[in-house]
Amino acid sequence: MVEMIKKNASDLDRDFRYEISEKVGAKSLLKCIQCGVCSSGCTVTEYVDMQPHRVVASCLLGLKEEVLSSQAIWTCSLCHRCTERCPKNVDYSFILALLRNMAVKEGKIPKEYSGTVQVIYDNGFVVPYTGGLKDNIDRRRNRMGLPEIVPPNLDEIRFIIKETGLGDLVKEKEDD
Ligand code: SF4
Ligand code: SF4
Repeated sequence: MVEMIKKNASDLDRDFRYEISEKVGAKSLLKCIQCGVCSSGCTVTEYVDMQPHRVVASCLLGLKEEVLSSQAIWTCSLCHRCTERCPKNVDYSFILALLRNMAVKEGKIPKEYSGTVQVIYDNGFVVPYTGGLKDNIDRRRNRMGLPEIVPPNLDEIRFIIKETGLGDLVKEKEDD
């Protein structure tokens, strides 16, 4: 069911569309004709709270708060199908990546994502590779004849996390 959004004109961010389109260039959302092709072929359409064509429409209308707080921008699998099928050449999947960056800058990031960044920051792996979990992984790899895991260079990983602007999401441990 489509949920109505009621908003005063003064609460709309009229520059939002330009903020996005100047970063996207020629494949700008300003050309969108609301045909819905992006939504009809979206691989996660049944799981999002706002379908792709509605996200584009909301950006055009200036509903910045609603878009950056939506779960839709994080559920996208970045398969690029919408971008490939759009008759107006709107690069929706790239726009979504921009929207995620904007959301992070405003502190709007699902805890599952910030938690993953913390795990990578702490031990260099997406899945914790310490304690009992490490022993289990090592035992299984050994059984399958796989080589030992070489620990990643944590300094390099932490440098990348900080340089890419994700540093605000992580907490330093006292023993680091
Ligand atoms: S397919 Fe392209 S033109 Fe159609 S609604 Fe989606 S973004 Fe807009
Ligand atoms: S890139 Fe995202 S929005 Fe586009 S079709 Fe794939 S899952 Fe859907």
